[in-house]
Amino acid sequence: MASYKGPKCRLCRREGEKLYLKGARCYSDKCAISKRPYAPGQHGNKRTRRLSGYGQQFREKQKAKRTYGILETQFKNYVNAALKTKGITSEVLMQKLESRFDNMIYRSGFATSRSQSRQMIRSGFFMLNGEVVRIPSAQTHPGDVIKPVDFERVHLREGFVLPEWLKANVKERYVEVDRLPGLEDFQADINVQLIVEFYSR
Ligand code: SF4
Repeated sequence: MASYKGPKCRLCRREGEKLYLKGARCYSDKCAISKRPYAPGQHGNKRTRRLSGYGQQFREKQKAKRTYGILETQFKNYVNAALKTKGITSEVLMQKLESRFDNMIYRSGFATSRSQSRQMIRSGFFMLNGEVVRIPSAQTHPGDVIKPVDFERVHLREGFVLPEWLKANVKERYVEVDRLPGLEDFQADINVQLIVEFYSR
C-alpha cells in the first residue's frame, strides 16, 4: 500500500498543530512545530489564514488523513463506505479509521506512532485472534484479541492511556477490542462532520 514518504513534521506545520507522527520526538523540545510554529515554505511565516467554509472542510480532511497516515484514495473509500452504512456517517467514518489494525496497535501502546506500528505489523510483530497479520489496514472488530508475537521485541509506549473501548488482560498479556468507539470517545481533535460535508458536496 502506498504511503506518504516525505518529511512528517512538515505535515504538522501545515495543519498548524501537533499530529504526533514521530513518536518520542513529538513530546520533546525537538518538535518542529514548537520551534517553527508556522506553515512550511518560503512565505509560511508571513501567511495569515482566513479560511472559507470549503477551506475549513478541506483542511480537516487533510488533518485526518495525515493523522491516520492514509492517502486520498483509501481515505475516500472509507468515506464512501461510511456513507453507505446505516448510522451516523461521521461516527461510522471514525470507527472505520479507529478500527484499523495499525491504529489499534498504536492505541494499545505497542508503538510510539502509527507509522511505527505499520512497520512492526509488516514485520510480523503482532497477532490478531491468534494469527500473525501483516496488513496495517486490516479492520478489527469487537471481541478481537491483539497480542505481540514476542514480548522481547515490543515495549509499551511511555505514558500512554488505553482508550475506554479497549480492554487489557495483563495476566494473559493481550488487548481486546471491547466495543467500537463512539463520537464522544475520539481523542483526536478532528471535526468529522466537516469531512463528511467535504465529500458530500
Ligand atoms: Fe509533528 Fe511530531 Fe514533528 Fe512535532 S515532532 S512537528 S508533533 S511529527
